[in-house]
Amino acid sequence: MARLVMKFGGTSVADIERIRNVARHVKREADAGHDVAVVVSAMSGTTDRLVQWCRETSVLHDAREYDTVVASGEQITSGLLAIALQAIGVVARSWQGWQLPILTSDAHASARILEVNGDELIKRFRERREVAVISGFQGLHRETGRVTTLGRGGSDTSAVAVAAAIRADRCDIYTDVDGVYTTDPRVVPRAHRLERIAFEEMLELASLGAKVLHVRSVELGMVRRVPILVRSSFVSPDDIDPHAAPPGTLICDEEDIVEQQVVTGIAFSKDEAQISIRNVQDKPGVAANIFGPLADANINVDMIVQNVSADGATTDLTFTVPAADFERAKSTIANARAQIGYARLDGATEVTKVSVIGVGMRSHAGVAAKAFRALADRGINIRAITTSEIKFSLLIDAVYTELAVRTLHSLYGLDKP
Ligand code: ADP
Ligand code: ASP
Ligand code: MG
Repeated sequence: MARLVMKFGGTSVADIERIRNVARHVKREADAGHDVAVVVSAMSGTTDRLVQWCRETSVLHDAREYDTVVASGEQITSGLLAIALQAIGVVARSWQGWQLPILTSDAHASARILEVNGDELIKRFRERREVAVISGFQGLHRETGRVTTLGRGGSDTSAVAVAAAIRADRCDIYTDVDGVYTTDPRVVPRAHRLERIAFEEMLELASLGAKVLHVRSVELGMVRRVPILVRSSFVSPDDIDPHAAPPGTLICDEEDIVEQQVVTGIAFSKDEAQISIRNVQDKPGVAANIFGPLADANINVDMIVQNVSADGATTDLTFTVPAADFERAKSTIANARAQIGYARLDGATEVTKVSVIGVGMRSHAGVAAKAFRALADRGINIRAITTSEIKFSLLIDAVYTELAVRTLHSLYGLDKP
């Protein structure tokens, strides 16, 4: 007998029929004698609609009220799933973030989980064999007593946090794909499913654009040592052998991966914008004058490229920011023009960051060099490059996204046979 967290995302609970299907998956595990806590997302499209309603009401709106609105999507699903479970004879009760509670920071719309109280859930497992159905995505800020949400995709993080709190043996993330692939299978049909992936690699994949898991869920799993299994909710519950190893991708420690490839996966993000500042002074303090005001404005700068000037006087400086912050970043730089001193500000939003990830890069040289050649052969220009121990990222024109991802996917031997 084990203790499990089962998380179901938006498409898995998109309508009543699918909620019934989820209930059958939960029943399968409960019938096998496991303690089960389920974490659910809002029905697909619901959160988008709630966000849109906030925007329509007022473009500038109070983040606390935004959270009040968008947290409601998950409440519907948790209630419906509890009803569906009870209807098939499973003892179940729904829980909202504020009821457990799931305590978070007060960063409304992107709150961090600080503490989850799982005592009542454990008590009910013991006393009544009751399945807990918990609303993902939402929490409570203790001091203000207000509802918070964790940022888009945050239900994964709720699930891993609950798993850590109730000391679950595993956190199963049920979604609309049957695991983590070498890249987004919707873009590259030849992507293949990974049996296992190291936490560190998954962290990079998720932060660099693969939305299959919320970044903080991976961080939390790594720190709190929760094994995470990504698997499909679309298999029929009757087709799963409860005694066989469950199908999916296990996120685990690097040591637990036997066959390590040099490159494990490729991620891409279209949510980038490039800013180039022309003819800045090549002297001490200029970078601080540029990036200081951006940091003060809470704008995350990612790739930075600066040339050594040929004449010793001026140079160009290029960097990327999240596309959503593009206009704000440009006006922040323009406002600091007197201190910085530059000739012109150029920007581009039609850019994509493509990243190649693998812990094997630590011990292999020349991995990135191969990519530069392959992209050049296809006429794809690289605007900026960054590298770190287990990944490198390239900024390219957005129109070449699919071609670049497919090219690199083949280049590193990731295409399925
Ligand atoms: P859920 O609603 O269940 O949380 P998401 O839409 O958030 O599901 O995440 C699943 C989606 O992530 C998949 O449909 C897939 O298109 C996308 N995805 C992106 N990169 C990957 C990858 N490397 N492996 C698997 N899925 C990926
Ligand atoms: N419902 C929320 C969203 O759409 C959280 C989640 O699905 O993980 O972002
Ligand atoms: Mg998701």
